Amino acid sequence: MKAIQILQTGGPEVLTLAELPVPVPGPGQVLIKVAAIGVNFIEIYFREGRYKAPLPLVPGSEASGTVHALGDGVEGFQVGEPVASVGVMGSYAEYALVPAAQLVKVPAGMDLKLAAAALLQGMTAHYLSHSTFPLKAGHTALVHAAAGGTGRLLTQMAKAAGARVIATVSTEAKAELAREAGADDVILYTRADFELETRLLTDGRGVDVVYDSVGKTTFEKSLNCLRPRGMMVLFGGSSGPVPPFDLIQLSVRGSLFVTRPTLNHYVATRVELEERAGFVLNGVANGTLTLRTEHTYPLASAAVAQVDIASRGTTGKLLLIP
Ligand code: NDP
Repeated sequence: MKAIQILQTGGPEVLTLAELPVPVPGPGQVLIKVAAIGVNFIEIYFREGRYKAPLPLVPGSEASGTVHALGDGVEGFQVGEPVASVGVMGSYAEYALVPAAQLVKVPAGMDLKLAAAALLQGMTAHYLSHSTFPLKAGHTALVHAAAGGTGRLLTQMAKAAGARVIATVSTEAKAELAREAGADDVILYTRADFELETRLLTDGRGVDVVYDSVGKTTFEKSLNCLRPRGMMVLFGGSSGPVPPFDLIQLSVRGSLFVTRPTLNHYVATRVELEERAGFVLNGVANGTLTLRTEHTYPLASAAVAQVDIASRGTTGKLLLIP
């Protein structure tokens, strides 16, 4: 099978196309014939060596496809069935092994590209808006990078929960996409001071929660956008990691809460995984959640896709097609 392989960590050039044997599913594993592969920042961190994994490595974390073969003891899945998964290394390939416990069924008839585009960012948006800080009517949320893959889905879910959304984006074109996703107010944080604008938009009160995936360039100011006892949800670092932080600042700035969540801990049980995946995949299937999937690349162009997602030039989801 064709697969992208990393022999040593480094820049995008270490992502090379290789011919590898089709894996054989062991006990509890399912082999999927991959239809579409989601591209995510986490794969860049593994490529660079910031996150560690044994080499050689077939990278990846998200894929949709059909069940090709079942390992011993797997129940509940059938060959040919449409499925998708997140959090599984090795999806940059024509075939990928997934523990059955981490595989979910895709609704019949759903485009497998949409399933791959929706799952990781959708379940992230779901836990952020429903579990980390459960939004409801009366809440105001500040969502950074709201035209991004996760940002657009988070904005849609926050609006569906009844909250007001103040969005930040870098360009006019992205502002339009954030509004289309439902944002009530949009700040171009590359031109305006988003702290000042947020204060003005909330009559000085501040927001209840900030969802910050940008990190280094937004974290400090985001704290100043919160109301007393508000919650800072730092869930990524697209601009770089947040430097060490003195916790006394949380007291000074209003007895604030800070959390640094990750998806794994919010889909740790089968029940939670199925609930979040069901919400997202059914939402896409019935049109209550909309996706943008205009950035698709052949598997061999994985390096280009990783450069593009980090370039700030994309909107919505990036997919590799094997
Ligand atoms: P996005 O589609 O949001 O792309 C990143 C966006 O970040 C850009 O489009 C850009 O939007 C913004 N950005 C701001 N500053 C920079 C910069 N210096 N360089 C690049 N981008 C910048 O990507 P994803 O939705 O896939 O992921 C967003 C973040 O969320 C990532 O950091 C990722 O690691 C994290 N994440 C965390 C998860 C978790 O569970 N903790 C799960 C999934 C993703 P703009 O141009 O509008 O500023």
